[in-house]
Amino acid sequence: MLIKTASYLISSPDYEKCPAPDRPEYAFIGRSNVGKSSLINMLCNNQKLAKTSGSPGKTQMINHFNVLSVKNEWDKKPAPWYIVDLPGYGFAKVSQSSRRRWEQMIENYLRKRENLANVFVLIDSRHSPQKIDLEFLQQLAKWDVPFSLIFTKSDKETQAIVAKNVKDFLNKMRETWQFLPQHFVSSSVKTHGRDKILTYIGEVNER
Ligand code: GDP
Repeated sequence: MLIKTASYLISSPDYEKCPAPDRPEYAFIGRSNVGKSSLINMLCNNQKLAKTSGSPGKTQMINHFNVLSVKNEWDKKPAPWYIVDLPGYGFAKVSQSSRRRWEQMIENYLRKRENLANVFVLIDSRHSPQKIDLEFLQQLAKWDVPFSLIFTKSDKETQAIVAKNVKDFLNKMRETWQFLPQHFVSSSVKTHGRDKILTYIGEVNER
């Protein structure tokens, strides 16, 4: 898949204010600082699209980006879809009330957004399995939300350490999950994982 254009559309305070659900939508979420903005920018080949780490925790909005893609150079019919940048979880410094607001907003969005094709949950590949990520995945399963995993920042550790962390995470999931989700390994610095993630989105778009 080739992305022709990608541009910011709108930030919405809750799912009801989101744009019309008239095309497939792919949401990205993860712990704060996991590399979400960098990944969205890398996928779209536009370093200025999503903001990177300005003021973590402050942007509690559902951010929509318009994307137009084609299957290959000869494809004359661009397909429209949305990328959604969701506010991350795991901030130590947010108040109880804003945490509750986040939970409510995310739950409503994930459970009710009818055109949500897939949620990419980002996991920092430098760390061993974290409870907060595993718990979030349990929520997604409970709500019947389709998701896949992206292990980010793979350039920051050796391949062996990244492979071990990915394996440990999946093994941890195996303890309670019957099926394992699709997973990807990415580096926004080295542009790793881009083709595989975009190909996957193309396949889901075709379904
Ligand atoms: P967000 O808070 O999840 O949106 O995270 P950002 O995309 O803003 O990234 C947080 C920090 O990690 C920034 O300093 C980025 O430059 C850095 N970062 C993000 N992705 C990568 C990556 O793939 N490799 C490396 N080396 N650094 C990254």
